[in-house]
Amino acid sequence: MRDNQIYLNPSEMPTKYYNIVPDLPTPLAMPLNPATKQPVSPDDLAPLFPEELIMQEVSQERFIDIPEEVLELYSLSRPTAMHRAFRLEKALGTPAKIFFKYEGSNPAGSHKTNTAIAQAYYNKRAGIKKIVTETGAGQWGSALSIATQHFGIDLEVYMVKVSYDQKPYRRTLMQLHDAKVYASPSNRTNSGRQILEKDPNSPGSLGVAISEAVEIAANNKDTNYALGSVLNHVMLHQSIIGEEARLQLDKVNEYPDIIVASAGGGSNFAGIASPFLRDKLSGAKKDLKVVAVEPSSCPTLTKGKFAYDFGDTVGFTPLLKMFTLGHTFIPPAIHAGGLRYHGMSPIVSNLYENKVIEAVNYHQIEVFDAAKLFLTTEGILPAPESAHAIKGAIEQAKLCTERNEAKTILFNLSGHGFLDLGSYGSYIDNKLEDYKLPDEVIMRYFADLPIVD
Ligand SMILES: *Cc1c(COP(=O)(O)O)cnc(C)c1O
Repeated sequence: MRDNQIYLNPSEMPTKYYNIVPDLPTPLAMPLNPATKQPVSPDDLAPLFPEELIMQEVSQERFIDIPEEVLELYSLSRPTAMHRAFRLEKALGTPAKIFFKYEGSNPAGSHKTNTAIAQAYYNKRAGIKKIVTETGAGQWGSALSIATQHFGIDLEVYMVKVSYDQKPYRRTLMQLHDAKVYASPSNRTNSGRQILEKDPNSPGSLGVAISEAVEIAANNKDTNYALGSVLNHVMLHQSIIGEEARLQLDKVNEYPDIIVASAGGGSNFAGIASPFLRDKLSGAKKDLKVVAVEPSSCPTLTKGKFAYDFGDTVGFTPLLKMFTLGHTFIPPAIHAGGLRYHGMSPIVSNLYENKVIEAVNYHQIEVFDAAKLFLTTEGILPAPESAHAIKGAIEQAKLCTERNEAKTILFNLSGHGFLDLGSYGSYIDNKLEDYKLPDEVIMRYFADLPIVD
């Protein structure tokens, strides 16, 4: 048998997160207070996050210890396996070697558990009794519900209404972990009521759900807010993926020439890539190519603007300097719900602005075609979000074929697709649509960007 899987024992799990911030080519722009447009102080964030997470958010330390209790919970599913996709390579007839890291074996089925566990732990240590959050199709909410249930913290989730109605399975998973789940926009917050007044049948969006959750956390002392992507501390927690991947590839004497991951808010991308980008930024691996893949209908890096913008629709959150399509942009209803966000992590945005990384976008039908090829060769049904990374890796492998180059490609399979079979049903029934997003339409939303001088 060929060794197509590379494992680490739980005792070999990395014990430190890697923080890429001190190694970025230019300093990270400070978040701004939305009212004063002055840099936010740690005090501004205190109503929403525990002190230890705020310290991580602004940390310049390169390595940060992973607490023992967090490592212990990680060991339920970590270290995750690294696979060599021999059968996919053969189907493509490529000289490239394709490796992937499989995060779908985590509880709730994606990488999001990595930060959920850490965030719940630090909130518990700060004496927080309740966390409020938003979720789109439910990946983040279900990951967090596992962590809060473990640490004995109450969880309230504002779930985007279309998903609440049409994708009930992750809602059930959250409820099994004792979370309270509400369809957003709801009449429980001023933000929700404001939206419902304008449009009683509003399908909701991630930006609106964030406004609802932040509003509640800001107004209740023992209640905090948690975000599943975008922020620096989330990128930090996800570095466990890439740190493990380095050790696994070391075992077979490999180092990637090309790394590919999907990018919604940027966390699974930063998670797999940053421990390798450390070598590129130090000059040791100058030629490392790192590609973020996004949907053509929500092309934040490839078509967005690098500007200060809100993280939510209503405008409560600090202003972040990031690639954005504008906080009023509501992406078309593609099936990769986890990639439908108007902004991008400031860390990933900084790397893209400095041309350390590249980005591409693909339409959803070609992405589902890639998912099908992957399923039928490698035997794993990918989440539609993760299928963007598969599509990206396949395109890189085809380039290797054309140039007859035996490069090593590593991609992140961020989650499994067993709760997305409804979407796959639409795919085989030819009901998927590729949404065209003309530049004029995108330009219109740029007009709503806040003015910062
Ligand atoms: C949420 C999600 C994503 C996108 O979020 P990032 O923060 O960009 O990683 C990608 N894949 C899966 C499976 C997800 O659940």
